[in-house]
Amino acid sequence: MGGTFDPIHHGHLVAASEVASAFHLDEVVFVPTGEPWQKSDRTVSPAEDRYLMTVIATAENPQFSVSRIDIDRGGPTYTVDTLRELRAQHPGADLFFITGADALSQILSWHDADELISLAHFIGCTRPGHTLTDPGLPAGGVSLVEVPALAISSTDCRMRVAKGEPVWYLVPDGVVRYIDKRALYRDAG
Ligand code: ATP
Ligand code: MG
Repeated sequence: MGGTFDPIHHGHLVAASEVASAFHLDEVVFVPTGEPWQKSDRTVSPAEDRYLMTVIATAENPQFSVSRIDIDRGGPTYTVDTLRELRAQHPGADLFFITGADALSQILSWHDADELISLAHFIGCTRPGHTLTDPGLPAGGVSLVEVPALAISSTDCRMRVAKGEPVWYLVPDGVVRYIDKRALYRDAG
């Protein structure tokens, strides 16, 4: 599951957990982006903060892990590179790429879309405020999954922190404390 995770929230975690159960996955690897090329219009928090929040949020779940591959590669993150690298690290594994409805609808606009969709099976999860549809991948390339609806976004979490509003219960407790400790998002907006 790729994402900016700025910050990771319970919407991400529920989607990952539901897909892991529905598809009998051995492991869900969270892959925080390096420099997200679609988000160059705003300042994204330092990769190390996003990485550590993702580690904090997933640490207790033995099925969840976090990969630094996109952060350590440097330069803009293209999911096709992520999947190529995961392929090389796990030869023979079946790869599934978990997205929300909004990200899935963009997928054909991603870099090297043809190769991208040959590298993994894509799973689109329902997300409040977005319509979940097959973006037109080749037959069998995508599955659509209904997950419990959590109307949470990282954007809303950042805005809340900037306004002094709570993010308790929207993100894991350790992430609330990390945001506070590192004074993240205080001037988001
Ligand atoms: P931002 O508001 O900064 O874009 P976000 O909440 O959309 O943040 P991302 O890191 O952009 O989080 O998302 C990573 C992946 O998780 C994407 O595929 C996105 O569609 C999915 N996702 C995010 N929030 C939810 C949610 N509440 N329910 C289901 N999927 C989600
Ligand atoms: Mg997003």
